[in-house]
Amino acid sequence: MRIRAATDSPSRGASVPGRGYPRCDPPGVTEPTHDEAHGGALGARLNWLRAAVLGANDGIVSTAGLVVGVAGATSDRSALLTAGLAGLLAGSLSMAAGEYVSVSAQRDSEKAALAVEKRELKEQPEAELEELTELLEERGLTREVAREAAVQLTERDALRAHARVELGIDPDALTNPWHAAWASFLAFTVGALLPLLAIVLPGAGWRVPVTVVSVLGALVLTGWSSARLGAAASGRAVVRNVTGGALAMGVTYAVGALLGAAGV
Ligand SMILES: [Zn+2]
Repeated sequence: MRIRAATDSPSRGASVPGRGYPRCDPPGVTEPTHDEAHGGALGARLNWLRAAVLGANDGIVSTAGLVVGVAGATSDRSALLTAGLAGLLAGSLSMAAGEYVSVSAQRDSEKAALAVEKRELKEQPEAELEELTELLEERGLTREVAREAAVQLTERDALRAHARVELGIDPDALTNPWHAAWASFLAFTVGALLPLLAIVLPGAGWRVPVTVVSVLGALVLTGWSSARLGAAASGRAVVRNVTGGALAMGVTYAVGALLGAAGV
């Protein structure tokens, strides 16, 4: 049975649902994406790096919004520390949990598809050989060459051949949900530490300016790197990223200041 050809979905192999961490376990063995087509293992590694940068970016923006909002209401350092730490943990744990759930679901569906494939190879090997031949033809081989390639692939490792050509997955390299969860957790935490330290370390009068400046600076870096890693135009990405962060801090600071002034 042909569930879905890898070529039908360009994003296949580039990322798993959720935070967009690429399937990569170990790097470079996944179905080729546009990036990987040019870089192989390097492309897969860049995908990981880009996902990490985006995770850190999330940590920066959400924690900055949180602590700047609290700073609008109070100058109490322990309140700022508590809010910042709680935000860091809540964010990184929720990222990790979301990633774990989404990668697990993907892994389950891949395992189920492999089981179906295995059964079909056993029950109807001729039809499966024909299917593999047609899939290879679709990829540009002539009928004879496709048939010959399909026969050889089937002799060597039929399940792997069908998994790769037909399903776009490598049966030996299913994404590990724990790896993805840890990666999300770490990336978010690293990002969140910046606004947290920036808000608690300086003296009362300097907290918000120091945080705003360091956060906007970091967002220039993360916006630029993620655009470069994704081979996109970096100028607009930086502007969008910095604007988003500035808006988040502006809104929460205004709300915090209003609440603080109202004595809530
Ligand atoms: Zn098949």
